[in-house]
Amino acid sequence: MNAVRKLPPIEVLPRDLSAWEKGNTGTAFVHRFDSGRPGPRVMVVGLTHGNEFCGAEALHWALGEKLRPLAGSLVLAFANVAAYRSFEKAKPLDSRFLDRDLNRVWRDDWLANEKTREADRARELLPFVTEAEFLLDIHSTSFAVRPFFVSAQHARGRDLAQRIGAPRSLLLVDGGFDGRAMIEHGEFADPQGQRTALVVECGAHFLKPSVDVAKATMLDFLATVGSVDPDWAAVRRPSVPVSESGVYEITEVYVARSDDIAFLQPFVGFEEVGEGTPIVRDGDNEVRAPYPRCTVLFPKAQPMKGRELVTLARRID
Ligand SMILES: [Zn+2]
Repeated sequence: MNAVRKLPPIEVLPRDLSAWEKGNTGTAFVHRFDSGRPGPRVMVVGLTHGNEFCGAEALHWALGEKLRPLAGSLVLAFANVAAYRSFEKAKPLDSRFLDRDLNRVWRDDWLANEKTREADRARELLPFVTEAEFLLDIHSTSFAVRPFFVSAQHARGRDLAQRIGAPRSLLLVDGGFDGRAMIEHGEFADPQGQRTALVVECGAHFLKPSVDVAKATMLDFLATVGSVDPDWAAVRRPSVPVSESGVYEITEVYVARSDDIAFLQPFVGFEEVGEGTPIVRDGDNEVRAPYPRCTVLFPKAQPMKGRELVTLARRID
C-alpha cells in the first residue's frame, strides 16, 4: 500500500521574468553589481530547480528594489528560467528541470562533456559560481517541512549557517548525491578551502510563506557576509516563524531501481524512525532504516526509476 501524501496547494505561480533576461553581464538572467569598494564577492542564485518559485520571487524583489552591495560585488542569478517557463499547474513537479537536474551536474568531468540544456546553463553560470566567495542557492521542497540550510561537510559551512542564524536546521552533505550540487563544486566542498556556499530550503514549492523565508534568508545572508547594511536589511526583512533546530549528516541517498514504488508511511521529511522501520518499497526491495533514530528527508512526491527517491540522515546536534 502506498501511503497517501497530499501536496500543499499552489498559492504562487510563475511570473514574467523577461525584464531581467538581458541582465548586465552578457549572460541571460545574470546581474552583477560592483560597489567599487573592496569587499566580499557574493552570489545569490534562485531557480536552480525550475519549480522552486521562492528563489525567483526573492531575486525579482531584490532587482526591483535595486538592491546593491555596499562593499565588494554581488551577482543575482536566475538559474533555470527555461524550466520555470515550462510550468504547468496540472503537473507542477515536472518543471524541476528540462533534461537533467541542474543541481547534480557540478562535476568537472560532466561540466566539460555533458550535452544537456542544464549542463549548457551550468557552463554559463560557472564563471560567476567560481568567482563567488559566498554563495546562497535558494530552494524549496515538495512538502511543507521546516526550512533548513544545506552545506558541504566542513566547519566554515556550519559556521556561516550559524552566523546567519535562521533557518536553524542544517543538513551536511558529504558527496552523497547522485552527482554534485552547485554548493559542492570545487573549493566549496574542500574543508581546507576559503569559499563557502549554502543552499537554503525555504519550505514547500508553491506556498507564500516560503517566499517570505527566501527573502528573509537572502537579506540575513547578505547582511552577515557584509554585502548590505544590516539596518537596511532589517527594515525590509519579512518576519518568519522561528524554525526547529538540528544538525543532520546525510548517510544515504537512495536512487529508485524500479517504477513500482510505495512509501510505507506518509513521509514528508524530517520524520525520525527506529532501526529497521520500513520506509519505502522499491520493486522487490524494501528500504529500512539502517540505524536507530534515522531521519527521513526528501521523500519524493513523484518517484521515478533512476532518480533520487529518499535521503537518510543522522542527527548529530
Ligand atoms: Zn531544489
